[in-house]
Amino acid sequence: MLKSKSILVTGGAGFLGSHLCSRLLADGHQVLSLDNYYTGQHKNIAKLLSNPNFKSVNHDISEPFFEKVDEIYNLACPASPVHYQKDRIQTMKTSVIGAMNLLNLARKHNCRIFQASTSEIYGDPEQHPQQEKYWGNVNPIGPRACYDEGKRCAETLFFDYQRQFDLEIKVARIFNTYGPNMHPDDGRVVSNFIVQALKGEPITIYGDGTQTRSFCYVDDLVEGFIRLMNSAKDITGPINLGNPAEFTVRDLATKVIEMTGSKSKIIYLDLPTDDPTRRRPDISRAKAELGWQPVVPLEMGLQMTIDYFEKELSVAAKAVMSKPHQADITPVITVHN
Ligand code: NAD
Ligand code: UDP
Repeated sequence: MLKSKSILVTGGAGFLGSHLCSRLLADGHQVLSLDNYYTGQHKNIAKLLSNPNFKSVNHDISEPFFEKVDEIYNLACPASPVHYQKDRIQTMKTSVIGAMNLLNLARKHNCRIFQASTSEIYGDPEQHPQQEKYWGNVNPIGPRACYDEGKRCAETLFFDYQRQFDLEIKVARIFNTYGPNMHPDDGRVVSNFIVQALKGEPITIYGDGTQTRSFCYVDDLVEGFIRLMNSAKDITGPINLGNPAEFTVRDLATKVIEMTGSKSKIIYLDLPTDDPTRRRPDISRAKAELGWQPVVPLEMGLQMTIDYFEKELSVAAKAVMSKPHQADITPVITVHN
């Protein structure tokens, strides 16, 4: 049994953050979620609010935060390219100033701090699969740079706080992860394809669909987070967390159409600038240092995600149906003389 701790999760109302909060509560901890709801959803944490060990505060991490905690997971940051490019300066502020604020908090209370870093550190990688020792191939002035360079700078800050102040840091480089609690309008490929397939809308492949990604189910990832946070002090990362099974985007589209039985057609749209052509984690370090590897295969994870979105879409459809239709509203009667 782990000792009960008070744990801060930034981005707690987001996709990954909400799963992490649930897991930490189930493990018997007290959890404080900080979120500014930029991409987060209140409904992701609604069920947790009745738990006396859970507290949620609306706060932007680019502003300092002072509450005493035992441990910090920093997940706050929009993760979908569509959303992190909407206000690029805000993305950079969240990544860099947010990281500094949380590192200062960790220093003040002398507590461990975990950073949700990303495979985008490797940019459009020239080495495949990607190992942690690879420094990456990132365009520093491109449209994705606010996220990639923001996260790279955050990693630098984490390692400098460790060198200068002996802070206990844990840096995870997360590869594409999917599952329930993604926003239907998140914009990332798995949620887009599933929602499009379920609605019978065209499946939007960007480019020719030969680019690859390696998709990890959320429960596997959260298990990796917990193991990394609770690892020995000298295990700082960076450490790749992801599922090494690699698929083309076209493979994914075909699989989703098959599994949903959808009549959706595939359409091909322009590939976004600097979209990485391939991505697969080398997880040897995670296996050796954490004894971690993913166990949920893509089909199983996709099925759980499809089930989730089916429910979400039917709840949304019922909500629209129950709104009074124009004709049901008592008309205002105008009397003309
Ligand atoms: P998400 O967009 O669902 O969640 C991010 C959460 O952070 C949201 O609730 C959002 O409202 C909140 N947030 C954003 N800016 C904030 C700010 N300034 N202050 C407070 N809260 C803020 O994304 P996610 O997939 O859950 O990603 C969580 C973290 O994991 C991110 O840091 C992301 O970069 C990292 N990551 C995720 C993936 C993935 O595949 N899901 C891959 C690599 C890295
Ligand atoms: N993509 C796509 N159609 C979509 C959304 C994404 O073809 O509707 C592609 C995107 O161009 C990229 C891959 O799917 O090559 C993964 O995109 P996502 O936004 O999920 O994450 P990324 O790995 O690019 O951050």
